[in-house]
Amino acid sequence: MKTDFLIIGGGAIGLCSAIALLEEGYKVTLIDRNATGSEASWAGGGILSPLCSWDYSEKVTSLTERSMGMFEDMADQLLHHTGIDPEYQRCGMLILPPFQEKIATAWCKAHQVIFNHVRLDEHLQGMQGAGLFMPDIAQVRNPRLLQALRRRFEMLGGNMLEHQEALSFEISGHEVKGLSTNKEKLTADAYIMAAGAWSKTLLGEHAMGMEVRPIRGQMLLFKFEAPPFSNILLQKELYIIPRTDGHVLVGSTLEDVGFNKSITTEAMTYLLGRVRTLFPDWPSPIRQWAGLRPGSPDNIPTIGPHPRLSNLYANCGHFRYGVTMSPASARLLLDAIQGHTDQTYRWRE
Ligand SMILES: Cc1cc2nc3c(=O)[nH]c(=O)nc-3n(C[C@H](O)[C@H](O)[C@H](O)COP(=O)(O)OP(=O)(O)OC[C@H]3O[C@@H](n4cnc5c(N)ncnc54)[C@H](O)[C@@H]3O)c2cc1C
Repeated sequence: MKTDFLIIGGGAIGLCSAIALLEEGYKVTLIDRNATGSEASWAGGGILSPLCSWDYSEKVTSLTERSMGMFEDMADQLLHHTGIDPEYQRCGMLILPPFQEKIATAWCKAHQVIFNHVRLDEHLQGMQGAGLFMPDIAQVRNPRLLQALRRRFEMLGGNMLEHQEALSFEISGHEVKGLSTNKEKLTADAYIMAAGAWSKTLLGEHAMGMEVRPIRGQMLLFKFEAPPFSNILLQKELYIIPRTDGHVLVGSTLEDVGFNKSITTEAMTYLLGRVRTLFPDWPSPIRQWAGLRPGSPDNIPTIGPHPRLSNLYANCGHFRYGVTMSPASARLLLDAIQGHTDQTYRWRE
């Protein structure tokens, strides 16, 4: 029986997986080569939904919908237990033209997602035209969510090894016997790969058919005295996310540039140009950053046991929606550990 788990990677996925296991009474050690919550999960926007859900397959939307249904309760529980507020808010998302209205509304109806056709000036002073408003879409504030998850992990008795890098697995027969790190060799009954964009590289030949590669995303941060509007705005891949304290995030780019987290003037020019087309008076951004998404084909993550190694599991490759997917993915991983793998997200040979 597996009772003692070693999780590699302390982003939203690794931390949620760890907490799900600890809450079931398992023993968990989590290793991260940085401080936990400092990679993609920190860099993201915290929109709790796919951008245009109708662009994705049911494999993506069924996981995101399940997770979106779990998030408010998870955020409440985290605030209750840790005192750290992940700032979950059901702020709604306003989709600005141009968008595929017929496809979007048909998808919303088929998935019982509430939407309203609105005049843009009802939401944005002086803006002409019509849009689609989805009032139930929520956001979280990533750094706070990650701090709360980390605190909850510690409160539940998890063993945290930060600034320790996993290097390679020691394999014997069909089992992982240990994990070499830059400090020591670690052993456990079972191992969970949750190293985001780095998962496939770290697995090496043991990745089998798992396809995960880094896709860079850059963001801009603006600051106002008060939020300029209350809803997330989406216009053809550009999103604008107002926080309650007047910070506003603008994203993002999708760049296939390997493990390169630099920020670029091209991204600044592109994002700022798009923003100023909508809001010509906006000031200069106060910050720019980049993160590496764990890119996977069709945005479908890998969750479940390794095809050949009996004590290795994956929870990785969540690409654009790993924060959204984190609670439901942790639940699917737990199910797989307990013998019920959802074949939709299985590890391919
Ligand atoms: C700009 C941007 C905007 C985004 N916006 C959204 C959004 O609005 N909504 C949404 O749901 N998602 C969004 N995402 C996607 C989301 O952030 C990711 O899908 C999610 O964070 C992936 O989580 P993760 O835990 O798998 O990876 P990560 O958060 O990257 O965590 C992986 C961890 O593994 C650790 N690690 C790596 N290699 C090793 C090693 N060898 N040894 C030990 N530790 C290791 C890293 O240090 C890291 O902490 C966005 C991403 C970006 C970049």
